[in-house]
Amino acid sequence: SFIIDRNNLCSNHPFDSTTISSHPGSSIIPSSLKKLNFDGCLSSKNIDHAANDFGNIYHQLPSAVLYPKSVSDISSFIKHIFDMGPTPDLTVAARGHAHSLQGQAQANQGVVINMESLHQEMHFQTGEFPYVDVSAGELWINILHESLKHGLTPKSWTDYLHLTVGGTLSNAGVSGQAFRHGPQINNVYQLEVVTGKGELITCSEKQNADLFYGVLGGLGQFGIITRARISLEPASLMVKWIRVLYSEFSTFTMDQEHLISSQDAFDYVEGFVIINRTGLLNNWRSSFNPKDPVQASQFNSDGKTLFCLEIAKYFNPDETDRVNQEIDRLLLELNYIQSTLFLSEVSYVDFLDRVHISELKLREKGLWEIPHPWLNLLIPRSRIHEFAKVVFGEILTDSSTGPILIYPANKSKWSNKTSMVTPDENVMYLVAFLSSAMPSSTGTDGLAHILTQNKRILDFCETARLGVKQYLPHYITREAWRTHFGPKWETFVKRKSTYDPLAILAPGQKIFQKGR
Ligand code: FAD
Repeated sequence: SFIIDRNNLCSNHPFDSTTISSHPGSSIIPSSLKKLNFDGCLSSKNIDHAANDFGNIYHQLPSAVLYPKSVSDISSFIKHIFDMGPTPDLTVAARGHAHSLQGQAQANQGVVINMESLHQEMHFQTGEFPYVDVSAGELWINILHESLKHGLTPKSWTDYLHLTVGGTLSNAGVSGQAFRHGPQINNVYQLEVVTGKGELITCSEKQNADLFYGVLGGLGQFGIITRARISLEPASLMVKWIRVLYSEFSTFTMDQEHLISSQDAFDYVEGFVIINRTGLLNNWRSSFNPKDPVQASQFNSDGKTLFCLEIAKYFNPDETDRVNQEIDRLLLELNYIQSTLFLSEVSYVDFLDRVHISELKLREKGLWEIPHPWLNLLIPRSRIHEFAKVVFGEILTDSSTGPILIYPANKSKWSNKTSMVTPDENVMYLVAFLSSAMPSSTGTDGLAHILTQNKRILDFCETARLGVKQYLPHYITREAWRTHFGPKWETFVKRKSTYDPLAILAPGQKIFQKGR
């Protein structure tokens, strides 16, 4: 497990140059850095965890880990490295909860900054435009619990909340609320950032806007976010959570697009693909109840590919009757297979933290810390049918190695000023292949097979020129990054030379290399 006891580490592990010499990459840490005074500490002990991430495919060992206890620990550390110039070849990676997939929060022989040890109080502002100021190393689940004490909640989420603010804001932070509110990067008022020169800068739409938009979705390239001001709204207590099935992809997507075109219909719209599975309805019975149990028991998926629409509506207990009527009315507008209407009613927290329940079950079976060759794609609406026909119909025909999410988002809610790259159309689909690979398997559930399948999907997208963009992108050549960013590339490079000219930060993204 990657959980760090942030209270004890620093008092027990000051930087110890006697142990560092036995470490393969230790010589790269200059002695002047070892002598810096920190409120936290720089440690070379027990750092193997910093070569891991959720993907569990890339493992690059750093030379040391900085456990900051103050923002000045981070700024003075980076400033010192910047002042040393292009040599030594020392890089720095902020590490949130290390739920990256391809080593993005790692620093080969460099220094990893453990952002979760930077613990700062959350400050809430209530009133017309409520917000909370949080440390960038804070987990979203903690922000949810604290916000609810004020009757408030962030608006835009990820499906899984045990991720840090800095980690998701460096990408986008997307879930079934993004069609209404945009991704998490569009729900931030202000950031505090330490640049690659060690300067501490506060930025927002109005102040240092270039840095603000650069850092949002900026893959950690321009600075380390130390604090963020997150926009909030009044919270509901309960959630009606609904799943319905489709056998026709075109009907499924038509209904999804219908739902995201209305701001008041549902609060959350997602969906997933079910390939070649039987007994599905039985699996759901533990948490979902069929509206019509007799009909549902007769439904047989028969190994066909099915599409599940997942929608949710937030409400408070005193609104139950009204919300039930509204949901009945909204469901009449949809064209799902009538016998497959499944409903569940859960608390707001249980709904948002739903993936954590699966995590606990997988951990019990030893199936959480295994390789995760995930592939996340953003696909323009105009090409989604072509994509589905080939990928779900021809490439992924045998068995499924994990959930395949698919849902649309309306780009009018997404700011184009951030560093995040999206397809060039108003509506796009997020398709997420969330595979788990069985360790040492050489079969269809093994890492090699899944990586080959991912490559087939990417090759198809490229050959068919679908205009797809990777979300949580992973490339290893400068040319591939240039293509990914397209018209945003020049700005991205310019921002790099302004805010991190020595390319000290986030080397695990493999976009820029220090000294080149
Ligand atoms: P890390 O992996 O620690 O870091 C990610 C990158 O950000 C690294 O390059 C790192 O150097 C940089 N970074 C970290 N902190 C900072 C900081 N403070 N300042 C600057 N740079 C920083 N994403 C979605 O959008 N929607 C989802 O629904 C979703 N579900 C997920 C479910 C699971 C189970 C997992 C494992 C991931 C999921 N993700 C999802 C992806 C996730 O948002 C990203 O992987 C995110 O980067 C993870 O956050 P983290 O705190 O673990 O970041």
